[in-house]
Amino acid sequence: MIRSRSAFKLVSLNLLIILLPAFSGAAFAQTAQSKATPVPFMAPQQASQAEQENFPAPLLQELSAIKTAALSDDYAYRQVAHLTENIGPRISGSLQAQAAVEYVAGQLRQLGLDVHLEEVKVPHWVRGAETAELTEYAGHVAGTTQKIVLTALGGSAATPADGITTEVVVVNNFDELKALGRDKVAGKIVLFNAIFDKQKAAAGLSFISYGEAVRYRGAGPKAAADLGAVAALVRSVGNADYRLPHTGFSFPAGIPAGAVTAEDADLIAHLSAQGPVRIHLTLTPQKLPDATSYNVIADLKGSEHPEQLVVVSGHLDSWDLGTGAIDDGAGVVVAMEAAEILQKLHLRPKRTLRVIAWMDEESGGAGSQAYTKDYAAEFIRTVGAIESDSGAAHPLGFDVKMSPHAAELLRPVLTILQSFGATALQPSSYPPGADISAMSESGVPALGILQDGRTYFNYHHTAADTLDKIVPSELRENAAAMAVMGYALASMKDPLPR
Ligand SMILES: [Zn+2]
Repeated sequence: MIRSRSAFKLVSLNLLIILLPAFSGAAFAQTAQSKATPVPFMAPQQASQAEQENFPAPLLQELSAIKTAALSDDYAYRQVAHLTENIGPRISGSLQAQAAVEYVAGQLRQLGLDVHLEEVKVPHWVRGAETAELTEYAGHVAGTTQKIVLTALGGSAATPADGITTEVVVVNNFDELKALGRDKVAGKIVLFNAIFDKQKAAAGLSFISYGEAVRYRGAGPKAAADLGAVAALVRSVGNADYRLPHTGFSFPAGIPAGAVTAEDADLIAHLSAQGPVRIHLTLTPQKLPDATSYNVIADLKGSEHPEQLVVVSGHLDSWDLGTGAIDDGAGVVVAMEAAEILQKLHLRPKRTLRVIAWMDEESGGAGSQAYTKDYAAEFIRTVGAIESDSGAAHPLGFDVKMSPHAAELLRPVLTILQSFGATALQPSSYPPGADISAMSESGVPALGILQDGRTYFNYHHTAADTLDKIVPSELRENAAAMAVMGYALASMKDPLPR
């Protein structure tokens, strides 16, 4: 979902950004700023007395052994290869999502974990035909059309099977839509042409670019429908140059809604500036009855405080265009590997390590909502929650939502992660993961792995989110970061303060 990066990592950054009630332009700007600045208090340095007591030498040796093992372990890669290539895309309600639930549960049972499937009712939406072409525009050559490359947004309503043909109006933001008003919008198709800022993305602020543009994907179709539009299009939220459309979550609007490629958004905007543009749009997805699905929850029981929990997690569902490798097969498998490494090294955490493969992060968050309902009583005993949902690239450290004091207590862990450069603990004012947001809001110290996101939105929610985008050595670093931090939270002397 989204976090700004953190709030907008939500994205899955997607949902988080869109769904967080606390999200506002001002808060976003603030987060953007914090993202841009280094965080000096987190740099590894001489350990204080309290830090040494929390992380005695034997524990530091165990953490070091976990890191070493993870950096030469191919478990996570083998698992994500199976999830993406053998099982495939895992959109909520699909046969493949169900197969993934059964597969991951089976693998975690093989590791010796106590596995439980938590029932979740999820939306079941199935993509159909998706085509469009411009039929009238300034300088139109008689007898031709201009093809538009697009994809339906999740939950989109359908056009008639032979499509609709009408004028398209282009707006750059919600203010422009409002200024047009019902008179100029009713009966037409609105294109939201909000641009994903590539310069920011290149500078390492891709989640800020995402947050700025994704609000139109999330709320644009509904805003257009409210003014009588018969369909809505958004410029794809992403930064590749290969005419790829990016799908994603959109609030139900009751009208067909799609994402056109950045190139096609430019085309329509340019032609619209010269005169009226008419488009023939065909989108025929189907909304089926809600389906039964599951979160996979697997516990490695703690040796001293089994009632206390540390959550390590990623989301198992994906979009349907690609095979869900970086979003978020990678997150699930690095959480699985955290348990695998501990079992392999015969290390038992003091507190229970709980691996969660979340369902339905992309299509509404039903999995995290069900967990919040079923497990709220355990939040007070949950001493930390980690989610990885920003890809599989080199980890720089973690986004954290916890007190500065709690973050400082983690400094000894950073000395372990320092050898591969994962030493940032970046404070976030938003929960650093969509699925752990309720835990975070209730006071559970929350962390999201902070990957280098510069290329993440080249592939995010496109047909190109496939296994080859994962660099095995970088995935191993992510697995090391998850396993080391998960074990540290589970075995440090005192739990992190809330
Ligand atoms: Zn995701």
